[in-house]
Amino acid sequence: MGKPLEHVPHDHATPHDHAACIDQAVRTAADVCAQRGLKLTPVRRRILEIVWRAHAPIGAYDILAELAKERDKAAPPTVYRALEFLIDAGLVHRIDSINAFIGCDEPARAHVAQFLVCRKCHRVVEIDDPGINRLLAEKSLAAGFRIEPTSLEIKGLCGECEDA
Ligand SMILES: [Zn+2]
Ligand SMILES: [Zn+2]
Ligand SMILES: [Zn+2]
Repeated sequence: MGKPLEHVPHDHATPHDHAACIDQAVRTAADVCAQRGLKLTPVRRRILEIVWRAHAPIGAYDILAELAKERDKAAPPTVYRALEFLIDAGLVHRIDSINAFIGCDEPARAHVAQFLVCRKCHRVVEIDDPGINRLLAEKSLAAGFRIEPTSLEIKGLCGECEDA
């Protein structure tokens, strides 16, 4: 039942050509938007790049600060509207528990993800295992509760913080 977990979280700790990650994210976003008839405007695209500047979540304020370096007028509503678009398009995920945003590796595939959130450094790893959602839905139904698709945020310690 179901596909095996294919999503291998990118290893942020391994040195790699991150510019290529950003390129890939922007190309994928352009494809996804084209397929769905959505418009990836320059500001939306730029904010996506900023979100992807690292394999780490970024807060709205930091996005705004980054954008303000390049544009005279970088108003908070611009950032929030663009983020809303990117989230709705599945290109970016909001991590509620730390009030930050992270780029999605696989926006082409609709999914409800689980996020492992390091409580110390706020590093986030996205896993998305449909089996977890299925199990949760079954258990909830058995408890007489129909849950809505909800991403899960699970706190813990990442490998690096645990070693420290
Ligand atoms: Zn990278
Ligand atoms: Zn995702
Ligand atoms: Zn950590």
